[in-house]
Amino acid sequence: MFENLQDKLERSFKVLKGHGQITEVNVAETMKEVRRSLLDADVNFKIAKDFTNRVKDKALGRDVLNTVSPGQLLVKITHEELTELMGSEHEELDLSGDPAVILMAGLQGSGKTTHSGKLAHFLKNKKGKKPLLVACDVYRPAAIDQLHVVGEQVGTEVYSNKEEKDPVKIAKDAVEYAKQNGFNAVIVDTAGRLAIDEDMMNEISSLKDALNPNETLFVVDAMTGQDAVNTAKEFNQRLDYEGVILTKLDGDTRGGAALSIRAVVQKPIKFIGTGEKMDALTPFHPSRMSDRILGMGDVVSLVERAQEQFDAEQARKLNKKIAKNQFDFNDFLQQLQQIKKMGNVKDLVGMIPGMGKALKDVDVDDDAFSGIEAIIHSMTPEEREKPQIINGSRRNRIAKGSGTSVQEVNRLLKQFGETRKMMKMMGNKQQMAGLMNKMK
Ligand code: GDP
Repeated sequence: MFENLQDKLERSFKVLKGHGQITEVNVAETMKEVRRSLLDADVNFKIAKDFTNRVKDKALGRDVLNTVSPGQLLVKITHEELTELMGSEHEELDLSGDPAVILMAGLQGSGKTTHSGKLAHFLKNKKGKKPLLVACDVYRPAAIDQLHVVGEQVGTEVYSNKEEKDPVKIAKDAVEYAKQNGFNAVIVDTAGRLAIDEDMMNEISSLKDALNPNETLFVVDAMTGQDAVNTAKEFNQRLDYEGVILTKLDGDTRGGAALSIRAVVQKPIKFIGTGEKMDALTPFHPSRMSDRILGMGDVVSLVERAQEQFDAEQARKLNKKIAKNQFDFNDFLQQLQQIKKMGNVKDLVGMIPGMGKALKDVDVDDDAFSGIEAIIHSMTPEEREKPQIINGSRRNRIAKGSGTSVQEVNRLLKQFGETRKMMKMMGNKQQMAGLMNKMK
């Protein structure tokens, strides 16, 4: 996400390296580069221009602090302004009411159905809600079937009625059904068209009038760049929606939509979609997004994800084993599985400062750990608990069984041995203190 923009901005700031002071000339030069980077990322021209002017004024207006270099100061101001451009604060969904009603609007293919499912998953797991999904696309029976598939994936009931041709009636019946059956959130997936047309707008407007939803969310594909911004504007004129879900940010998007929508439409991006899986939905935080754009990583989101998967009891047991130097391959496997639960590996690594860019061309996928897992699965229970018994012939057998090579098995055993040594040392604080003293 945003690697290109990140690269270019970094190069822009390099102009200032070696300069001891911010001057009108070097700031102007840097901002010209920043503006070019933004335009290349498909940010609207006027927004890019206003943006760089604001950063410039702020930088020149601020006394040059001796404690920070001009480059750092400019990055800091750019960060503040990027965050402001994207709306400053994260805006939560309004989930009041029984049921809370969320209406999904957007063009066909934008990701409405997928994101209806993701939202159901989010409401269930993060907000403790019992959601109902509603299929209101009366033109494409396949769309109704797709929502049923999605509903099944996230364990959420789907309300549909293929006989009924009036979407307003279906939606109203669904809300009634929700009330009577204990659902406290209703997500209404609607029909989209390939381009904006009057019939579609009329239909979604009448759904909004009839349902009076807590939230109308406009779903838009980030890959469409400036078109995304224009569509956002047109939908907003008709629907005056509450927020935006920006989808497909995992793809090869240049990021312009994420940066421009808020400024053009004056509506917040509430979520971003970063994959086809049902858990690839992230609440949008402007400052975290600026962190990522400026290559500072997004440690806060990373820690949050880790905490979500954190099992205190398991951690306590693990600590005990580490203290006794009993950490074995079963624990190792469990740790791998926890990391995998946190999501797409490349996405995670991208949140670590400086790593996103380093991994730009590396193909890290969800199966990054599959070789390691296969090796551990090919060990006998005794071998997993006592890796020291794994001799040459056992290594051969494990390599064959896991479809890997002896070298790979050796590498894993070596890494494991080192991890264990380090853990032991960390468990032994005295030794640690001695080591630190030696390093002084
Ligand atoms: P709808 O016509 O608006 O309901 O769009 P769909 O939900 O059917 O999505 C269209 C296509 O985009 C499907 O193939 C989805 O799997 C894909 N898609 C949706 N959201 C995302 C996303 O965040 N990332 C990626 N990579 N693909 C997505």
